[in-house]
Amino acid sequence: MLHKLSDCRIFFDFDNTITSFDVLDAIIKKFSINSDWKKAEKLWKAGHIGSRECLKRQFALIRVTRPELEKYISRVKILSNFDKLIVFLEKKGLKPVILSDSFSFIIKAILRSNGIKGVKIYSNDLKFQGNRVIPYFPYANMKCGKCGHCKNKQLKKILLRDKILMYVGDGRSDVCPAQEADIVFAKGYLLDFFKKKKKLCIAFRDIEDVFNYFRRLDK
Ligand SMILES: [Mg+2]
Repeated sequence: MLHKLSDCRIFFDFDNTITSFDVLDAIIKKFSINSDWKKAEKLWKAGHIGSRECLKRQFALIRVTRPELEKYISRVKILSNFDKLIVFLEKKGLKPVILSDSFSFIIKAILRSNGIKGVKIYSNDLKFQGNRVIPYFPYANMKCGKCGHCKNKQLKKILLRDKILMYVGDGRSDVCPAQEADIVFAKGYLLDFFKKKKKLCIAFRDIEDVFNYFRRLDK
């Protein structure tokens, strides 16, 4: 069933949802002093540690200065049409939000270099000390610990009761917030999860699929 566009509130994941690859994974691989990050990744994927602990362990292995990291991420491209979708949603009075288990420093720089403005971001963040990068987690849920950024807690905080909630994502940190949403666009791990649980969602391959859905709502 289609809803009125003005009744919707839309949340996007970042890595692999509006980028064509996992930028955070690529940063960890590129700037780690050795391959010990794989051990943490394995423990996280097996569910033995949450992503906050995983990211803390992985970032302890990273050596990169702020300008070096800025230079690297300045080349990252946001998926085509995301910029047009944002302009379209804003014209309709919607304020899109990014909920990410990555870091504001990275996301803001990438959005800026791709000319995308006006998207509210909730995510973890980074501090630089020379070539050391320290992650911190202002939106962690200490009672759970699965994720660095508890997107679910954040989503509930900003949720408007009378709005149709839409969620667009692909990963493990999207599972909880997506289950709160009325309409879910899913790919990757999130899509597999919804299929396994026999929950309704809309499979998407790229942002154009999401954009087309909104175009239809606007008619
Ligand atoms: Mg993702």
